[in-house]
Amino acid sequence: MIRMSSKAFKITDHVYKVVANSNVYVLLSDPVTVIDCGDRRFHEHVREAISEIVPLSEVKRVLFTHFHYDHVGNCDLFSSAEFYVSKEEIEDFKRDPFGTVLRTQEAELFSKQRLLPVEDLKAEVLQTPGHTRGSLCYLWGGCIFTGDTKFHDTLYGRTDLPTSVPEELEDSKKKLKQYDDLILCPGHDYE
Ligand SMILES: [Zn+2]
Repeated sequence: MIRMSSKAFKITDHVYKVVANSNVYVLLSDPVTVIDCGDRRFHEHVREAISEIVPLSEVKRVLFTHFHYDHVGNCDLFSSAEFYVSKEEIEDFKRDPFGTVLRTQEAELFSKQRLLPVEDLKAEVLQTPGHTRGSLCYLWGGCIFTGDTKFHDTLYGRTDLPTSVPEELEDSKKKLKQYDDLILCPGHDYE
């Protein structure tokens, strides 16, 4: 993996990674897409790192793997984007904005942002419940973006959180096995 600058890593010619407690991925797709947007504490870092790759105003789509605070904290950087997440995550967020493990400031941001169910989107999306009941993985450009569902071959996300469904993780693992030949782009670089 080539480090393209002090702030962003090049995964492929069209996919870049920014480390912000969780990983933020920039897809030079049409439209330009960001997958997850990192922890709020890394707001400036994410802003600067993505700006090195593409102007923030050109990001038209933000896809969330799930709704935990460390993956959604910088959504306000993308004022030209539409935001997508699973309908289960939206339901859980509406039912209990803080129970979905968002902090107050992120929950407030979300109540103002335009959120759409990913089911409306033409993208390759896998439903992989376990870490949360609405967790998604995305496929694009030879990569699979797994959020907190899968970190590497033998490490999967925890399933003891408020909206986890541990009984469904085994099926999600099986589903992901079919994509082992793709470049794994997890939500955290855990060893
Ligand atoms: Zn999570």
